Amino acid sequence: MAQALSLAKGKIMNTAVITETKIQNYVNGKWTESNAREWLDVVNPATGETLAKVPLSDAGDIGAAFESAAAAFPDWRRTPPEDRIQPLFKLKQLLERHIDDLGRIITQENGKTFAEGKAEMRRAIENVEVACGIPMMMQGYNLEDVARGIDEIMIRQPLGVAAAITPFNFPGMIPFWFLPYAIATGNTFILKPSERVPLTMRFAFELLEHCRLPKGVVNLVNGGKAVVDALLDHPKVRAISFVGSTPIAKYVYARAGANGKRAQCQGGAKNHVIVLPDADMQMATQIISDSAFGCAGQRCLAVSVAVTVGDAQKSFRDSITDAAANLRVGSGLDEGVQMGPVITRDSKARVQSLIGVGEKEGAKVLLDGRNAKIPKYESGNFVKPTILDNLPKDSELANTEIFGPVLSLVHANDIDEAIDFLAHSPFGNQASLFTSSGAAARKFRYEVQAGNIGINIGVAAPMAYFPFSGWKDSFFGVVHGQGRDAIEFYTDKKVVVERWAKEHSRKF
Ligand code: NAD
Repeated sequence: MAQALSLAKGKIMNTAVITETKIQNYVNGKWTESNAREWLDVVNPATGETLAKVPLSDAGDIGAAFESAAAAFPDWRRTPPEDRIQPLFKLKQLLERHIDDLGRIITQENGKTFAEGKAEMRRAIENVEVACGIPMMMQGYNLEDVARGIDEIMIRQPLGVAAAITPFNFPGMIPFWFLPYAIATGNTFILKPSERVPLTMRFAFELLEHCRLPKGVVNLVNGGKAVVDALLDHPKVRAISFVGSTPIAKYVYARAGANGKRAQCQGGAKNHVIVLPDADMQMATQIISDSAFGCAGQRCLAVSVAVTVGDAQKSFRDSITDAAANLRVGSGLDEGVQMGPVITRDSKARVQSLIGVGEKEGAKVLLDGRNAKIPKYESGNFVKPTILDNLPKDSELANTEIFGPVLSLVHANDIDEAIDFLAHSPFGNQASLFTSSGAAARKFRYEVQAGNIGINIGVAAPMAYFPFSGWKDSFFGVVHGQGRDAIEFYTDKKVVVERWAKEHSRKF
């Protein structure tokens, strides 16, 4: 049995060892085995080995989570914000102490490298830290004498039960875009992680169990579409946060809206970088290579299309091909490995077939990562870095999310032509520019329709105190995840207008 997680007699062990093959749910402060009839294998994408089984939880499991979260709400809401954040300080300590364990679990179930797994946990911890500021951030505002003798106050109150549905590509970070803010603002919370990577949250919830949260404040329900639909339909769930592919994001947004819930749904992406001839080509190459091929291209902020302008075409094409060819691909737990596998066999087959589509549409495969063979890991889902040159701007692939280690190169004569190409993308998650010109950078920042902009940055991932701002088909909703937007999302505003007329007030 592979390594993973467990508690020994209530103590968190430093090096996790699996003792559980059937992943449990965490409901009402207890670990419970699901009644599910269907269980899926959780597979290590580098080795093909089955790590555990995850339940597709049924109506009974989900009903118990709703009841638990709803019952916990009235008292949790009355708990002073200062007291509500104490468990988060403890959580931060535990996440720091177990960052290696979490990194290792992420590598085992997701495939990214150990360093990448730890890096995403760093981002998770940042969100816990920011949510510890709730007693300040949740404050409302007021104004005396909006009319003579009349005062007005805006108060923020929690909503009730909030839920999050998260994807496979950041098993540790993305749930923490939501959980700390939801509970610090006084809501209770249900998480449904991706059924492909349930082990990371299994471990994180073991840590949460040691944070002295009242039972029912946080709940973990494993499963797939049935759990999602139940969350979308249940009248007690007031808010839905979703991160995943665009078709599911649209579906979740529409169904949550039809049921009167607030929803924030982050979708897929096709991120562009423009490389101007005045860019520092060595720096651009290194950063873009990491963005396109890091996490095997399975980051929602991964650069997928590089648009070279003017003379940048040849130098960038040569240097990026060289850099990509030299990346060390293998199991993310092995020393020196820079890129791991993609998540599933199906995903590998899809990525390889999309490379073929690009080729048919007229691109030249400069570097071909198909049919990769990694010694000792013959059963892994490896696709090596791939570069498609001269992808036609009007091709289907130019607007298709690949979500694998494939970088397409497109050429433009000037920055206007390049920005115009970006404007036609249905997605707007991230766009980056490499240049040494401030004027070009300002023009880019001003004109480009994407929510996260990088200037000489390859992965413009906002820090926890800024919103994660996708646009277009990369986001459905109004307020985003993280930072002040999270406070906005997880609270309702109440306005009180009050008059205490002098003649009616007692003299003290
Ligand atoms: P996915 O859409 O397949 O799954 C996301 C979640 O939705 C999972 O929890 C899954 O169980 C659930 N789900 C899947 N099919 C469903 C259905 N038919 N009905 C209801 N729920 C369903 O996404 P994924 O493959 O896990 O993740 C990769 C995708 O997520 C990529 O498109 C990537 O760009 C996107 N992503 C976006 C962001 C962002 O911030 N915009 C961040 C990370 C990932």
